[in-house]
Amino acid sequence: MDCPTWLDENRHRSARRFARRVYLPRVIGLGTGFFCVASALVMQPVSGWWWLLLLANGFIWPHFAWQLADRAPDPARAEIRNLLVDSLMGGVWIAAMGINALPSALIVAMLSMNNIGCGGAKLFFSGLILLLLSCLLTLGATHLPLHLETMPSQVWICLPMLIIYPIFYGQVCYRTAVKLAEHKRRLMQLSTRDGMTGVYNRRHWEHLLHGEYDSCLRYKRNATLLLIDIDHFKAINDTFGHDVGDEAIVAITEHLQLTLRVTDVVGRFGGDEFGVIMSGTSQESAIQAMSRFCEHLDTFRLPRAPLMTLQISVGVAEFDLRMNSYREWLKAADVALYKAKNAGRGRIEAAA
Ligand code: GH3
Ligand code: MG
Repeated sequence: MDCPTWLDENRHRSARRFARRVYLPRVIGLGTGFFCVASALVMQPVSGWWWLLLLANGFIWPHFAWQLADRAPDPARAEIRNLLVDSLMGGVWIAAMGINALPSALIVAMLSMNNIGCGGAKLFFSGLILLLLSCLLTLGATHLPLHLETMPSQVWICLPMLIIYPIFYGQVCYRTAVKLAEHKRRLMQLSTRDGMTGVYNRRHWEHLLHGEYDSCLRYKRNATLLLIDIDHFKAINDTFGHDVGDEAIVAITEHLQLTLRVTDVVGRFGGDEFGVIMSGTSQESAIQAMSRFCEHLDTFRLPRAPLMTLQISVGVAEFDLRMNSYREWLKAADVALYKAKNAGRGRIEAAA
């Protein structure tokens, strides 16, 4: 029952963020656009009501539009409606200016940039059709004269919109891209890492093992796979509690990362079991590295259980061209690990 509400809340929040992202560009775009339109509107025989409408559209509408979107049940949909209103008003202003070339082209370009950035081709075409219709209707209803040519003074007045708005819009796009990259990085982290230890989770570690198997097969390289399991881990949990058990798991992972080479790929296989892929390493070298690790572990004590020593069993399997899949390689290491367990634990056993 909780899930849909949580999802709805999340969707509402992200729709609100979208509306918020459009707010400032609209304030800047319509604020600078006011002067573009005003520079051409002074040439037209229009009443004071047109000037009031221009003032309202340039300086009041952006804030009103944000309020509309912010209070709407679906802020994203409300914001799309606001963008369509922008296009509609763009057409009205193009007609009111007598289709003055530069400010009209600017209005079409900036609105199109906005619409395509916020709603893709669909919003771009909807906006364009609305703009054309409102322009034609305004021209038909008002019979305002055409003023196609732009004077040099009008070019200068249009410059702020021409320069400021694209810079600002680019900045908004850049910030959005940076945020998306950060989200992607976090998602990647969540889907490939074990939450408690930070090393690769089983799924991703197996994926890397698959890759290692393929490359060993293709380039006839050697690599060694190790499966590590903490001995009598249940007893640690039962005697000292799960917190200390967790600390032991984290400590072993940290020590593995500190003792082994940076190229060795450590993963948590689940529970108290870990896997290590030692690329370009022979079985003998892998066993030597593990022996060093075990010696290091002998002297290590957990602060909350200073009398307890941590002990591990290790199964080692070197890559063999006769293995038909990476699963067979994994199976060989697993069999070796159980050999180590059956032979009394605290040992490193190699696959036959
Ligand atoms: P063995 O020497 O045969 O490996 O004995 P063991 O007691 O270590 O047995 P086993 O490896 O099967 O036990 C794993 C235990 O680890 C079982 C489970 O309760 C515990 N465990 C699994 N995941 C976690 C964890 O994230 N934190 C803690 N504290 N315990 C865990
Ligand atoms: Mg165990």
